Amino acid sequence: LSPVEVYRQQHEVTASGDNVPAPFMTFEDTGFPPEILREIHAAGFTSPTPIQAQTWPIALQSRDIVAIAKTGSGKTLGYLMPAFILLRQRCNHSQNGPTVLVLAPTRELATQIQDEVLKFGRASRVSCTCLYGGAPKGLQLKELDRGADIVVATPGRLNDILEMKKIDFRQVSLLVLDEADRMLDMGFEPQIRKIVDQIPPHRQTLMYTATWPKEVRKIASDLLVNPVQVNIGNVDE
Ligand code: ADP
Ligand code: MG
Repeated sequence: LSPVEVYRQQHEVTASGDNVPAPFMTFEDTGFPPEILREIHAAGFTSPTPIQAQTWPIALQSRDIVAIAKTGSGKTLGYLMPAFILLRQRCNHSQNGPTVLVLAPTRELATQIQDEVLKFGRASRVSCTCLYGGAPKGLQLKELDRGADIVVATPGRLNDILEMKKIDFRQVSLLVLDEADRMLDMGFEPQIRKIVDQIPPHRQTLMYTATWPKEVRKIASDLLVNPVQVNIGNVDE
């Protein structure tokens, strides 16, 4: 067995799709800029988690991914690192609306994602706004007006803001659906579809889910283009 095969076997990684690149087994393999690697080392992380190791090289090829992995597997940095790399490549940061849009099911989760952006995105000078329900829209809209590279949002509130025509999706080139199964369980499918309809089709789409039932498979097949599917451990149908 090759070192890649050994790694995938030991970490229960399966990846299916065209020409799947080898995982980044160490942080040095990633080629991330030194400022980013410093933040990672400062956080005390010693190696990429398996989902990070396998999805980073695929995401950096601008390909779509559906990733199936349990909670606690490090999915947040799994999509945020490629988002930071994308934003660093744009000389003009998001003046006319966000470049990266992350959809998440709850306020708590959206806030946690924003915290990770603020912590690990500092070295890349990334700005971030969080939009969720149960809080007044005024402050969120004011923050949005100041410009944000990354918008992290729950589908309900984001769809309200979209209907008010207060957000412009024309610059969005990376869309992340985090905890897609939970968003569907919570009944957000209509809002997700209305939002995604407004995003340019040439985007990259990354979908994360803990389970892989037929509803999730259906939305994945509608929203993703020729994705690589990455599983960590057993798939819970
Ligand atoms: P998930 O979204 O899969 O549930 P999270 O992204 O919330 O997982 O990550 C779970 C925890 O693991 C967080 O505290 C996060 O900071 C930490 N973490 C992320 N990447 C690594 C890594 N490479 N090594 C160690 N811990 C990590
Ligand atoms: Mg998560």
